Amino acid sequence: MAPGALRHFTASALPAVLLLVLVLLSLHLMSSAVQNAERLSQLFIPLLIASVLGLAALVIVVGINIVQLVIRYRSHASGSHLTLRMVVVFIVLSLAPAAVVYYYSQQFLLHGIDSWFDVKIDQAMEDALALSQASLDLHKRERLKTTQRLLEDLQGSSVAGLSLSLEDLREKAGATELVLLESTGQVIASVNVDPTILVPDEPDSSILQQVRSGGDFVGLTLGSEDEPLTVRVVVNEPVRGMLLQAIYTTSTDITTLTGTVQGAYNRYKELAFLRTSLKNTFTIALALVLLFGLLAAIWAAFYSARRLVAPIADIAEGTRAVADGDYDMQLPLPKAKDELGFLVASFNAMTRRIAQARDEATRSKLEVEAQHAYLEAVLRRLSSGVLVLDPSGTIRTANQAAHDILRLDSDTLLDLSLDDVTSQPPHLRQFSDAITTAVVSQQQDWREEIVLYGADGRQILLCRGTILEQPEGELAEYVLVFDEITALVRAQRDAAWGEVARRLAHEIKNPLTPIKLAAERLRHKYLNKMEPKDSDVLDRATHTIVQQVESMKDMVDAFSEYAKPPQMNPEPVEIDALVTDVLDLYRSAGMEAGLEYSLNTDGALVEADSRRLRQVLLNLLKNAMEAVEGVEPPLVRVATCRKVEADCHFVELGVLDNGVGFDEEILSHLFEPYVTTKTKGSGLGLAIVKKIVEEHGGRIWAENRPKAGACVILRLPVLMANMSDVAACAQIPGPNSRSEAG
Ligand code: ADP
Repeated sequence: MAPGALRHFTASALPAVLLLVLVLLSLHLMSSAVQNAERLSQLFIPLLIASVLGLAALVIVVGINIVQLVIRYRSHASGSHLTLRMVVVFIVLSLAPAAVVYYYSQQFLLHGIDSWFDVKIDQAMEDALALSQASLDLHKRERLKTTQRLLEDLQGSSVAGLSLSLEDLREKAGATELVLLESTGQVIASVNVDPTILVPDEPDSSILQQVRSGGDFVGLTLGSEDEPLTVRVVVNEPVRGMLLQAIYTTSTDITTLTGTVQGAYNRYKELAFLRTSLKNTFTIALALVLLFGLLAAIWAAFYSARRLVAPIADIAEGTRAVADGDYDMQLPLPKAKDELGFLVASFNAMTRRIAQARDEATRSKLEVEAQHAYLEAVLRRLSSGVLVLDPSGTIRTANQAAHDILRLDSDTLLDLSLDDVTSQPPHLRQFSDAITTAVVSQQQDWREEIVLYGADGRQILLCRGTILEQPEGELAEYVLVFDEITALVRAQRDAAWGEVARRLAHEIKNPLTPIKLAAERLRHKYLNKMEPKDSDVLDRATHTIVQQVESMKDMVDAFSEYAKPPQMNPEPVEIDALVTDVLDLYRSAGMEAGLEYSLNTDGALVEADSRRLRQVLLNLLKNAMEAVEGVEPPLVRVATCRKVEADCHFVELGVLDNGVGFDEEILSHLFEPYVTTKTKGSGLGLAIVKKIVEEHGGRIWAENRPKAGACVILRLPVLMANMSDVAACAQIPGPNSRSEAG
């Protein structure tokens, strides 16, 4: 049998129940056969064999169950411990009463059988039999005497007369039949109580022989079942050579009683003979019944334990799966709608709900993660700095822009407490001081412009702050968004200055010429007519007026230049050639002392107005020359090169000197108008330079050289054959740090 089929066979109740019924039937038949000695001898052995075979099959079934249970117990299968305990309890509960019953049943049986064959009963049976036989003997003697008397009565009659008086004699004697016979056995005459019976019951030759030899014959004849006993008497009449046979019927009571006594005696003898084997048979039958009961109980224990434990084992299995995180476990529902069924259904409902909750939690987690990633992407790409601070003033979130604006390395701000910024750069401390009040007091819709002074100069930040709403019960966080508006403020200031310069130039320039003319006319008219002492005063006064008016005119021209709207005549300009031209001018003017150059753009072209670009270079060289006055040996170097950074192709031009360098105080706003350290300086030179560079789409910045001297660097986009390369460059990269004005 295949293992699966075998398991099914042992698990299913039907085959086992059929087997139990068959064995029970066989035992029942056996027990009824035991009651009957005749049937016992015929049926007992086959039934015994059938019962033993049936019990052997039961032993196999139970054995398989035990082996399976042991295997499951050893492998710690779920439910095996409980099944084992239940089976043991069932066995103990069924074995104890069965053993007690068996013991006492056997005792009763054996003593009962012995008591049947008690000596007194044995004697009584024999006496009863002797009594019945004595009674019969008496009855036979009486019948013999009656018959002999009849024969005496017949002494004087002839043979013919005898035949006639035979009927009277029969009635007189109370016989059933009278027969007269010759000594040879030839029937002479006969009469019967039943006239229809014509043929007499003749005695057989042995009886005739006995009677002829001189003795009378008395004998009992057993008829068929319903017929009573008959007494046959044959007597001899030697004088006439005749025999007389009389047949008497015994009374029904005697017949019955005799038969009963005889039957009972025979049965008693029979049982006495079988006494030992009967005891053994009963013992065997009882043992088989006990074994049957025991095996049936064990099998029932297995079956019911399995049925009872199966849902519990399922639940244990399911609970273990749930503990391991498998919430998709669904248990098979038991057929019975009892508490266990309810438990399994509840377990299934519970795991279903947990699985649903888990799916929802996973979905929410994914959503939160997606939201988080989305927010991070937005924050990363945002040009504004974003900080989120917890109620204690510790920065919990800071995007890259915040680090860039505050010139800090990535992640410096994360987990930084505003109370603990002493070890941070000065501008960050200023930033912390500026925002602390708003964060601590949780100001809603706070907005402020902050100015920071750091290594890179002045920085203007526009900050906005607000409370970040939190779920109820949690302390509010504070979100801060800030932008650097230094360039914007500077551009606004530049625009304002441009407007001022334009108006001033217009207003001042008009009266200058009449003032100059008036001064010259005064001088011309009165200089020669005055006393030498007075004319000298007039001469100096008018000279000063004219000189100052000239100077004012220069200033106003510079104003106009700065304020002038851009008038560009762009053309491809080879930057190295332009630098060479300007340097030649200096050389021809004999100002080449300390002037160096290094031109490395490989003939790169820029789209530029060469006149204005020339002015840029002249302004820068003028400042550098002024800066190296009195320095020995003086050095002014112009250097060009071509560069590619962040997909931008550009030309870099640097003018550096070994002069005093830029005053640190003005470095941050060097390119603003009217920033000057010179007594006669206008402060417009670098402002104009910056304006022109920006008009050409370039950037410019200034820095002090490490040891001594200043350096101004400008970058201009290269004119490419393929214009898309220029288009790819939205803005020329500036310096990493330093004063910038691009
Ligand atoms: P001005 O020359 O009329 O003062 P600029 O705008 O040309 O105006 O210059 C502004 C200021 O920048 C100057 O007053 C000077 O202090 C500083 N400066 C410019 N170039 C140099 C340089 N090469 N070395 C040192 N300081 C310089």
